[in-house]
Amino acid sequence: MRITVLAGGVGAARFLRGLKSAVPEAQITVIGNTGDDITLFGLRVCPDLDTVMYTLGGGINEDQGWGRAGETFSVREELAAYGASPAWFTLGDRDFATHILRSKLLAEGRPLSAVTEELCRRWQPGVRLLPMSDDPVETHAEIQGSERALVHFQEWWVRLHAEVPALAITAVGAEDAAPGPGVLDAIAAADFVLFPPSNPVVSIGTILSVPGIREAVAARTVVGVSPIIGGAPVRGMADACLTAIGVETSASAVAAHYGSGLISGWLVDDQDKAAADDPALGGIVVRALPLYMRDLATTTAIARAAVDLAKELA
Ligand code: GDP
Ligand code: CA
Repeated sequence: MRITVLAGGVGAARFLRGLKSAVPEAQITVIGNTGDDITLFGLRVCPDLDTVMYTLGGGINEDQGWGRAGETFSVREELAAYGASPAWFTLGDRDFATHILRSKLLAEGRPLSAVTEELCRRWQPGVRLLPMSDDPVETHAEIQGSERALVHFQEWWVRLHAEVPALAITAVGAEDAAPGPGVLDAIAAADFVLFPPSNPVVSIGTILSVPGIREAVAARTVVGVSPIIGGAPVRGMADACLTAIGVETSASAVAAHYGSGLISGWLVDDQDKAAADDPALGGIVVRALPLYMRDLATTTAIARAAVDLAKELA
Protein backbone atom coordinates (compact mmCIF):
# COMPACT_ATOMS: atom_id res chain seq x y z
CA MET A 1 0.00 0.00 0.00
CA ARG A 2 1.27 3.46 -0.90
CA ILE A 3 0.10 6.42 1.14
CA THR A 4 1.00 10.06 0.58
CA VAL A 5 0.50 12.51 3.43
CA LEU A 6 0.63 16.33 3.31
CA ALA A 7 2.28 17.44 6.53
CA GLY A 8 2.77 20.47 8.75
CA GLY A 9 4.62 20.13 12.03
CA VAL A 10 3.47 18.78 15.38
CA GLY A 11 -0.05 17.59 14.43
CA ALA A 12 1.29 15.84 11.35
CA ALA A 13 4.31 14.29 13.03
CA ARG A 14 2.22 12.75 15.81
CA PHE A 15 -0.34 11.45 13.31
CA LEU A 16 2.46 9.94 11.20
CA ARG A 17 3.74 8.04 14.19
CA GLY A 18 0.26 6.50 14.50
CA LEU A 19 0.09 5.82 10.78
CA LYS A 20 3.39 3.93 10.79
CA SER A 21 2.11 1.82 13.65
CA ALA A 22 -1.33 1.24 12.03
CA VAL A 23 0.06 0.14 8.67
CA PRO A 24 3.69 -0.90 9.18
CA GLU A 25 3.84 -2.48 5.72
CA ALA A 26 2.78 0.73 3.90
CA GLN A 27 5.18 2.88 1.89
CA ILE A 28 4.56 6.34 3.25
CA THR A 29 5.62 9.52 1.44
CA VAL A 30 5.35 12.76 3.36
CA ILE A 31 5.10 16.07 1.53
CA GLY A 32 6.33 18.61 4.04
CA ASN A 33 5.34 22.24 4.39
CA THR A 34 8.26 24.61 3.87
CA GLY A 35 6.25 27.83 4.17
CA ASP A 36 7.32 28.17 7.82
CA ASP A 37 10.98 28.19 6.79
CA ILE A 38 13.05 31.16 7.85
CA THR A 39 16.68 32.30 7.71
CA LEU A 40 18.02 33.17 11.16
CA PHE A 41 21.63 34.15 11.89
CA GLY A 42 22.41 33.15 8.31
CA LEU A 43 21.06 29.65 8.85
CA ARG A 44 18.14 28.06 7.01
CA VAL A 45 15.62 26.72 9.51
CA CYS A 46 12.84 24.36 8.32
CA PRO A 47 10.64 23.87 11.39
CA ASP A 48 8.02 21.54 9.92
CA LEU A 49 10.45 19.24 8.09
CA ASP A 50 12.53 19.00 11.26
CA THR A 51 9.54 18.29 13.50
CA VAL A 52 8.56 15.35 11.27
CA MET A 53 12.17 14.14 11.03
CA TYR A 54 12.92 14.39 14.77
CA THR A 55 9.56 12.91 15.83
CA LEU A 56 9.75 9.87 13.57
CA GLY A 57 13.50 9.51 14.17
CA GLY A 58 13.17 9.50 17.97
CA GLY A 59 14.91 12.83 18.61
CA ILE A 60 11.95 15.08 19.43
CA ASN A 61 11.29 16.88 22.70
CA GLU A 62 8.09 14.96 23.49
CA ASP A 63 6.55 17.46 25.90
CA GLN A 64 7.03 20.41 23.60
CA GLY A 65 6.32 18.55 20.36
CA TRP A 66 9.12 20.43 18.55
CA GLY A 67 12.86 20.85 19.03
CA ARG A 68 15.36 18.26 20.24
CA ALA A 69 15.18 16.13 23.35
CA GLY A 70 17.87 16.81 25.97
CA GLU A 71 18.53 20.24 24.54
CA THR A 72 20.92 22.89 25.92
CA PHE A 73 21.00 26.57 24.99
CA SER A 74 24.61 27.80 25.15
CA VAL A 75 24.63 29.25 21.63
CA ARG A 76 21.40 31.12 22.26
CA GLU A 77 22.79 32.59 25.52
CA GLU A 78 25.99 33.65 23.77
CA LEU A 79 24.01 35.30 20.96
CA ALA A 80 21.89 37.09 23.57
CA ALA A 81 25.08 38.32 25.26
CA TYR A 82 25.97 39.98 21.95
CA GLY A 83 22.48 41.45 21.81
CA ALA A 84 21.96 39.61 18.55
CA SER A 85 18.43 39.44 17.24
CA PRO A 86 15.97 37.92 16.83
CA ALA A 87 15.84 36.68 20.41
CA TRP A 88 12.22 35.52 20.11
CA PHE A 89 12.93 32.33 18.14
CA THR A 90 14.27 29.54 20.33
CA LEU A 91 17.01 27.38 18.83
CA GLY A 92 18.82 24.85 20.98
CA ASP A 93 22.41 23.73 20.55
CA ARG A 94 21.55 20.33 19.10
CA ASP A 95 19.00 21.85 16.76
CA PHE A 96 21.60 24.42 15.64
CA ALA A 97 23.75 21.58 14.28
CA THR A 98 20.93 20.58 11.90
CA HIS A 99 20.59 24.13 10.63
CA ILE A 100 24.34 24.59 10.25
CA LEU A 101 24.66 21.43 8.19
CA ARG A 102 21.56 22.22 6.12
CA SER A 103 22.88 25.71 5.38
CA LYS A 104 26.31 24.38 4.44
CA LEU A 105 24.82 21.87 1.98
CA LEU A 106 22.46 24.48 0.50
CA ALA A 107 25.40 26.87 0.08
CA GLU A 108 27.21 24.13 -1.86
CA GLY A 109 24.32 24.27 -4.29
CA ARG A 110 22.36 21.20 -3.20
CA PRO A 111 18.57 21.56 -3.43
CA LEU A 112 16.51 21.37 -0.23
CA SER A 113 15.11 17.96 -1.27
CA ALA A 114 18.61 16.46 -1.47
CA VAL A 115 19.63 18.14 1.77
CA THR A 116 16.54 16.77 3.53
CA GLU A 117 17.36 13.29 2.27
CA GLU A 118 20.87 13.68 3.63
CA LEU A 119 19.62 14.77 7.06
CA CYS A 120 17.12 11.89 7.09
CA ARG A 121 19.94 9.43 6.52
CA ARG A 122 20.82 10.00 10.15
CA TRP A 123 17.27 10.00 11.53
CA GLN A 124 15.79 7.13 9.49
CA PRO A 125 12.21 8.40 9.91
CA GLY A 126 10.78 5.36 8.13
CA VAL A 127 8.95 7.52 5.61
CA ARG A 128 10.15 9.31 2.48
CA LEU A 129 10.17 13.00 3.46
CA LEU A 130 9.90 15.38 0.50
CA PRO A 131 9.81 19.16 0.84
CA MET A 132 6.78 20.52 -1.06
CA SER A 133 9.20 22.56 -3.19
CA ASP A 134 12.90 23.24 -3.59
CA ASP A 135 12.05 26.88 -4.29
CA PRO A 136 11.83 29.23 -1.32
CA VAL A 137 8.27 29.89 -0.18
CA GLU A 138 7.71 31.88 3.00
CA THR A 139 4.34 32.43 4.59
CA HIS A 140 3.71 36.02 5.68
CA ALA A 141 0.92 37.59 7.69
CA GLU A 142 -0.44 41.03 6.99
CA ILE A 143 -1.03 42.77 10.29
CA GLN A 144 -2.36 46.11 11.37
CA GLY A 145 -0.12 47.76 13.96
CA SER A 146 0.44 51.50 13.92
CA GLU A 147 0.48 50.86 10.19
CA ARG A 148 -0.21 47.88 7.94
CA ALA A 149 2.79 45.58 7.69
CA LEU A 150 3.72 42.23 6.19
CA VAL A 151 5.63 40.10 8.68
CA HIS A 152 7.09 36.62 8.38
CA PHE A 153 4.67 33.98 9.68
CA GLN A 154 7.14 33.05 12.45
CA GLU A 155 7.24 36.61 13.69
CA TRP A 156 3.43 36.76 13.85
CA TRP A 157 3.15 33.27 15.38
CA VAL A 158 6.09 33.12 17.75
CA ARG A 159 6.86 36.75 18.66
CA LEU A 160 3.32 38.11 18.53
CA HIS A 161 1.56 34.82 19.52
CA ALA A 162 -0.97 35.59 16.76
CA GLU A 163 -2.59 38.02 19.21
CA VAL A 164 -2.61 40.78 16.60
CA PRO A 165 -5.20 39.67 14.05
CA ALA A 166 -3.89 38.80 10.60
CA LEU A 167 -5.79 40.56 7.81
CA ALA A 168 -4.40 38.16 5.24
CA ILE A 169 -1.99 35.25 5.04
CA THR A 170 0.17 34.92 1.93
CA ALA A 171 2.58 32.23 0.81
CA VAL A 172 5.23 34.54 -0.66
CA GLY A 173 7.01 32.85 -3.58
CA ALA A 174 4.41 30.09 -4.00
CA GLU A 175 3.15 31.39 -7.34
CA ASP A 176 6.58 30.89 -8.89
CA ALA A 177 7.47 27.72 -7.02
CA ALA A 178 7.50 24.27 -8.58
CA PRO A 179 6.63 21.06 -6.72
CA GLY A 180 9.78 19.38 -5.42
CA PRO A 181 11.24 16.32 -7.15
CA GLY A 182 8.99 13.31 -6.66
CA VAL A 183 6.09 15.27 -5.17
CA LEU A 184 3.60 14.98 -8.04
CA ASP A 185 4.64 11.38 -8.71
CA ALA A 186 4.10 10.44 -5.07
CA ILE A 187 0.60 11.91 -5.20
CA ALA A 188 -0.22 10.18 -8.50
CA ALA A 189 1.19 6.81 -7.39
CA ALA A 190 -0.51 6.73 -3.99
CA ASP A 191 -3.48 4.49 -3.28
CA PHE A 192 -4.85 7.51 -1.42
CA VAL A 193 -3.78 10.80 0.14
CA LEU A 194 -4.24 11.71 3.80
CA PHE A 195 -4.42 15.13 5.46
CA PRO A 196 -3.29 14.73 9.07
CA PRO A 197 -4.71 17.12 11.70
CA SER A 198 -2.43 19.91 10.47
CA ASN A 199 -3.15 23.60 10.24
CA PRO A 200 -5.55 23.97 7.27
CA VAL A 201 -4.20 27.40 6.35
CA VAL A 202 -0.46 27.62 6.98
CA SER A 203 0.41 23.91 6.67
CA ILE A 204 -1.98 22.07 4.29
CA GLY A 205 -3.10 25.33 2.61
CA THR A 206 0.48 26.38 1.90
CA ILE A 207 1.38 23.01 0.37
CA LEU A 208 -1.74 23.20 -1.83
CA SER A 209 -0.73 26.69 -2.96
CA VAL A 210 2.28 25.38 -4.89
CA PRO A 211 1.07 25.30 -8.52
CA GLY A 212 0.14 21.78 -9.58
CA ILE A 213 -0.18 20.21 -6.15
CA ARG A 214 -3.85 21.00 -5.51
CA GLU A 215 -4.90 19.58 -8.90
CA ALA A 216 -2.81 16.44 -8.38
CA VAL A 217 -4.30 15.88 -4.90
CA ALA A 218 -7.85 16.61 -6.08
CA ALA A 219 -7.52 13.80 -8.63
CA ARG A 220 -6.99 11.27 -5.80
CA THR A 221 -9.06 9.87 -2.95
CA VAL A 222 -8.33 12.13 0.02
CA VAL A 223 -9.28 11.63 3.66
CA GLY A 224 -8.59 14.35 6.22
CA VAL A 225 -8.47 14.40 10.02
CA SER A 226 -9.91 17.48 11.70
CA PRO A 227 -7.42 19.59 13.68
CA ILE A 228 -10.41 21.36 15.23
CA ILE A 229 -12.31 19.70 18.07
CA GLY A 230 -15.38 21.29 19.66
CA GLY A 231 -14.81 24.62 17.93
CA ALA A 232 -11.15 25.09 18.97
CA PRO A 233 -7.71 23.95 17.84
CA VAL A 234 -6.33 21.20 20.06
CA ARG A 235 -3.08 23.11 20.43
CA GLY A 236 -1.71 26.23 18.84
CA MET A 237 -3.62 29.09 17.33
CA ALA A 238 -5.07 27.69 14.11
CA ASP A 239 -8.24 29.66 14.88
CA ALA A 240 -6.32 32.89 14.20
CA CYS A 241 -5.30 31.53 10.77
CA LEU A 242 -8.83 30.40 9.93
CA THR A 243 -10.26 33.77 10.97
CA ALA A 244 -7.73 35.49 8.69
CA ILE A 245 -9.12 33.62 5.68
CA GLY A 246 -12.75 34.01 6.74
CA VAL A 247 -13.35 30.40 7.80
CA GLU A 248 -15.13 29.60 11.07
CA THR A 249 -13.17 27.52 13.59
CA SER A 250 -15.17 24.30 13.45
CA ALA A 251 -14.62 20.80 12.12
CA SER A 252 -17.46 21.34 9.62
CA ALA A 253 -16.21 24.66 8.32
CA VAL A 254 -12.70 23.30 7.72
CA ALA A 255 -14.12 20.39 5.70
CA ALA A 256 -16.35 22.76 3.73
CA HIS A 257 -13.31 24.98 3.11
CA TYR A 258 -11.44 22.05 1.58
CA GLY A 259 -14.62 21.11 -0.27
CA SER A 260 -15.90 17.89 -1.82
CA GLY A 261 -13.78 18.63 -4.90
CA LEU A 262 -10.68 18.04 -2.79
CA ILE A 263 -11.57 15.64 0.04
CA SER A 264 -13.88 12.64 -0.01
CA GLY A 265 -13.66 11.64 3.65
CA TRP A 266 -13.39 13.61 6.89
CA LEU A 267 -12.79 12.37 10.42
CA VAL A 268 -14.22 14.47 13.22
CA ASP A 269 -14.17 14.05 16.97
CA ASP A 270 -17.24 12.52 18.67
CA GLN A 271 -18.05 16.02 19.98
CA ASP A 272 -18.49 17.17 16.40
CA LYS A 273 -20.54 14.25 15.08
CA ALA A 274 -23.30 16.65 13.98
CA ALA A 275 -20.98 17.47 11.06
CA ALA A 276 -22.20 14.23 9.46
CA ASP A 277 -25.60 15.90 8.90
CA ASP A 278 -24.24 19.27 7.79
CA PRO A 279 -25.74 20.02 4.35
CA ALA A 280 -22.60 22.06 3.53
CA LEU A 281 -20.59 18.81 3.52
CA GLY A 282 -22.53 17.08 0.74
CA GLY A 283 -20.28 14.66 -1.11
CA ILE A 284 -17.93 14.24 1.87
CA VAL A 285 -18.25 11.10 4.02
CA VAL A 286 -17.93 12.14 7.67
CA ARG A 287 -17.05 9.69 10.42
CA ALA A 288 -16.80 10.51 14.14
CA LEU A 289 -14.38 8.99 16.66
CA PRO A 290 -12.15 10.24 19.49
CA LEU A 291 -9.56 12.49 17.80
CA TYR A 292 -7.24 13.45 20.68
CA MET A 293 -3.80 11.98 19.97
CA ARG A 294 -3.11 11.21 23.65
CA ASP A 295 -0.67 8.39 23.13
CA LEU A 296 0.46 5.93 20.48
CA ALA A 297 -2.61 3.69 20.93
CA THR A 298 -5.17 6.47 20.43
CA THR A 299 -3.15 7.95 17.56
CA THR A 300 -2.87 4.56 15.87
CA ALA A 301 -6.66 4.15 16.11
CA ILE A 302 -7.16 7.54 14.40
CA ALA A 303 -4.72 6.64 11.63
CA ARG A 304 -6.36 3.25 11.16
CA ALA A 305 -9.79 4.91 10.82
CA ALA A 306 -8.38 7.28 8.18
CA VAL A 307 -6.86 4.38 6.23
CA ASP A 308 -10.05 2.29 6.48
CA LEU A 309 -12.20 5.16 5.24
CA ALA A 310 -9.77 5.93 2.41
CA LYS A 311 -9.76 2.27 1.32
CA GLU A 312 -13.56 2.27 1.30
CA LEU A 313 -13.69 5.43 -0.79
CA ALA A 314 -10.80 4.69 -3.16
P1 GDP B 1 2.49 22.93 13.41
O1 GDP B 1 3.12 23.18 12.07
O2 GDP B 1 3.44 22.49 14.45
O3 GDP B 1 1.54 24.01 13.84
O4 GDP B 1 1.63 21.62 13.21
P2 GDP B 1 0.53 21.16 12.21
O5 GDP B 1 0.16 22.16 11.19
O6 GDP B 1 0.87 19.79 11.75
O7 GDP B 1 -0.64 20.92 13.22
C1 GDP B 1 -1.22 21.87 14.03
C2 GDP B 1 -2.63 21.42 14.31
O8 GDP B 1 -2.65 20.14 14.95
C3 GDP B 1 -3.36 22.36 15.23
O9 GDP B 1 -4.39 22.99 14.51
C4 GDP B 1 -3.92 21.45 16.31
O10 GDP B 1 -5.26 21.75 16.60
C5 GDP B 1 -3.80 20.07 15.72
N1 GDP B 1 -3.63 19.05 16.74
C6 GDP B 1 -2.64 18.97 17.66
N2 GDP B 1 -2.83 17.91 18.47
C7 GDP B 1 -3.98 17.30 18.04
C8 GDP B 1 -4.72 16.15 18.48
O11 GDP B 1 -4.36 15.47 19.44
N3 GDP B 1 -5.86 15.84 17.78
C9 GDP B 1 -6.29 16.58 16.71
N4 GDP B 1 -7.40 16.20 16.09
N5 GDP B 1 -5.62 17.66 16.28
C10 GDP B 1 -4.48 18.02 16.94
CA1 CA C 1 4.33 24.67 11.10
